[in-house]
Amino acid sequence: MTDSWNVGATDSSSPAASAAPPRAFTEEDFRRAPPLWVNIWLFALTFLGAVTVVPWYGIVHGYSTAAWMSLVVLMGATGLAISGGYHRLWSHGTYDAHWTVRLVYMIFGTMSLESSILTWSTGHRDHHRYVDDNLRDPYSAKRGFWFSHMGWMLRDYPSARSDRSNVKDILRDPIAVFQDRHYVPLVLATNIGLPLLLGWALGDVWGVFLLGGLLRLVLNHHATFFINSLAHTVGSQPYTDANTARDSTLIALLTYGEGYHNYHHRYASDYRNGVRWWHFDPAKWLIFVLSRVGLAYGLKRIPDVTIQHARLEMQCKRLERKLALRMPVLTAGTLERLRARLKQEHEDLMATLDQWRQARERWYDLKREEFQRQTALTLALMREQHRRLQGLSVQIGQAA
Ligand SMILES: [Zn+2]
Ligand SMILES: [Zn+2]
Repeated sequence: MTDSWNVGATDSSSPAASAAPPRAFTEEDFRRAPPLWVNIWLFALTFLGAVTVVPWYGIVHGYSTAAWMSLVVLMGATGLAISGGYHRLWSHGTYDAHWTVRLVYMIFGTMSLESSILTWSTGHRDHHRYVDDNLRDPYSAKRGFWFSHMGWMLRDYPSARSDRSNVKDILRDPIAVFQDRHYVPLVLATNIGLPLLLGWALGDVWGVFLLGGLLRLVLNHHATFFINSLAHTVGSQPYTDANTARDSTLIALLTYGEGYHNYHHRYASDYRNGVRWWHFDPAKWLIFVLSRVGLAYGLKRIPDVTIQHARLEMQCKRLERKLALRMPVLTAGTLERLRARLKQEHEDLMATLDQWRQARERWYDLKREEFQRQTALTLALMREQHRRLQGLSVQIGQAA
């Protein structure tokens, strides 16, 4: 029974699926990994500056409203460039964007100081392809919180090296290639030149440099690093338990809406991470708005019925496990009755799906409204089943 409930397969439509064959590393290679001194000094100095110079300047000189505004606006711009650009546009190809949008993403993505689009994407595709594999996932959460948060960038670990064979599609984008070729001068221009220029224009050079430049850089770093650490540690697993990725609204608030990470690892080709309308997902809203004004196109969405199917399969799987745990305290009759209920629920789910699939196959014969009606009915049945399974969970917990 458990096999048929396995919903852990990865989303094969992600560009990551067409990468090179696995490389062979050993734990010895990891132990011998040399330190990356540039990264170590960069993270240490920016962090120390943010916790010492930034408050000292605030106490002694105070910050202008313009400086605070620069922090908020540049936090948003750099965060969305990583989430909407580096992640959902380039790494996963969940939509296409006009070159002006890609240029803006490139500028603010460079400002976030998280490496070039090509380097970021090659590692991220490896993360999805080999998720939780300690030897091949560059930021494997199974190596612990610190490693997945920052540790993986402090030494030259073999899992983070790539020949870029999995980003050939991005190599065709002149904006990504230009950024990669001129990365260091672009970093200096966006992280030193731009804040100083903005500060001069707003009449508070040091205030904007320290808040919009330095503090923004450090806060933005950790907000996005949390996606690899917290979003693989805290939250629920509604769509798959085949990897450590979790869904959490709280983590979404800390990570520019990337906290619905369990869904993302299940369906990486969807331009959304938070699929419900109320889910906090600014990149989803940005991409949607861009599509409405013709600057983004080809937005990929996983059908609602497919998403609900994965959710119900996981719910059934959890109930199966819960029942197995309760087995020692249940009478043979109760166990048999609950098992029959679970089996019936699974059969009901298959029947609901079959009906919807038949309607989908007759898509060309049916009127559009008729198919939409069938889809709405299927989703209503699935919601009803979700509630029934919640009730069954309580019954299993209380049965004797
Ligand atoms: Zn991803
Ligand atoms: Zn992940």
